[in-house]
Amino acid sequence: MHPTPLIGLGRWRNLLLQDPLLPDAAWFVDTHWEPVERQRILTYLRQGRPLHHWMSHAQCEFRCQLPGSHMPDVELTDSMYLWPEMLIHQIEQHSVRLPAQFVAHALDQAAFPTAQAAEAEEGTAVDYTWWHAQPGWQQKVSTLSLLPPEEVRCYLSRYARGAIEYGSETAETVARRAQIVQELRQQID
Ligand SMILES: [Zn+2]
Repeated sequence: MHPTPLIGLGRWRNLLLQDPLLPDAAWFVDTHWEPVERQRILTYLRQGRPLHHWMSHAQCEFRCQLPGSHMPDVELTDSMYLWPEMLIHQIEQHSVRLPAQFVAHALDQAAFPTAQAAEAEEGTAVDYTWWHAQPGWQQKVSTLSLLPPEEVRCYLSRYARGAIEYGSETAETVARRAQIVQELRQQID
């Protein structure tokens, strides 16, 4: 029997656009997150058990040079959810606030489920359906607007040449990527 898939969260759309259905980190910025609750969530996330160590390198979507803005791409779990280590930096440095469902899940537990997290299997599937549908707290902002114009031009030229390979595509990912490309074109016009 396959274990229940982990629920993915804290991944964002960026110029790699491997998954264009991901939400934008800027939508989740909320400087009014209650500080005690925010601190408890940070403490919870920091206790995550490293499950995946990817070869790739993670760069903060806010394009800052603050501590933790560049790091190996590591994903942590509590046996139910899976999040990138970069998310901790983005909550601390960029006032990213997480959805109520995850906050309630973390706060409902007396302590971090260390034993269950230790038993999570590396090959467990990750489901991003819930995360894809998260609208955040504001939508009229985008971390794509923080990209240097030369990087956007380079991406658009590779996209136009069909030089970028994507994984499994659906009508929805193709449409969403086209929409993001449109957004990027307007940005450098
Ligand atoms: Zn940052």
